[in-house]
Amino acid sequence: MSDLFEMARERMVREQLLPRGIRDPRVLEVMGEVPRHLFVDDAMQAQAYGDHPLPIAADQTISQPYIVACMTEALQLTGHERVLEVGTGSGYQAVILSRLCEKVCTVERINSLLAGARKLFDRLRCYNILSKLDDGTMGWPDHAPYDAIIVTAGGPTIPEPLLGQLAEGGRMVIPVGGQGVQELKLVHKIAGGDGELEIQTIEQVRFVDLVGAHGWNG
Ligand code: SAH
Repeated sequence: MSDLFEMARERMVREQLLPRGIRDPRVLEVMGEVPRHLFVDDAMQAQAYGDHPLPIAADQTISQPYIVACMTEALQLTGHERVLEVGTGSGYQAVILSRLCEKVCTVERINSLLAGARKLFDRLRCYNILSKLDDGTMGWPDHAPYDAIIVTAGGPTIPEPLLGQLAEGGRMVIPVGGQGVQELKLVHKIAGGDGELEIQTIEQVRFVDLVGAHGWNG
């Protein structure tokens, strides 16, 4: 998509993503295409491609571009996957995912954010995104199992329903830890492993709270 921010996006890829080791060509391409400035307030559009998170409505945040790319890359999407996102927020991460997989199911607990994100899904013609207002720590059983799950808010533990809805051979990225600082975990459910998990830590991160039955204040 060509717009006034095309150069800012190219620069973001060149200066923030490539030097930090993002290598998946599909992820780099999509990060260079999706108009991130549409997902923030008009007054903040000029900062939309900066190397930092940005505030969105309801005291929530849209993650730093590098973190979005890093989490997306960790899912190793090839185009055929069904993906669950917990924490729709602005909708930016969902749109990135929608261009890299078959279907995205995204759950948000704050109505005003979900409404804003849905408008952008329509505007950007992302017809493979399904969204609903709910507690995403319960997952979205109707469309399970998911080949990949991404949680964009931080909770104290990995919600049990999400592990149950992850397909065998599937991958989940999720920040786990305290209210403030968490470790970004990559969870791999081994194919044919009877639910066996392999868990790695990718980065230290700072996400807003995952609030729900299997999160904070649950
Ligand atoms: N992926 C978003 C980032 C949003 S910030 C983006 O690209 O903009 C995290 C979001 O998680 C917030 O909008 C918050 O309301 C939401 N959230 C927190 N707990 C949740 C829960 N249990 N279920 C669904 N959404 C939740």
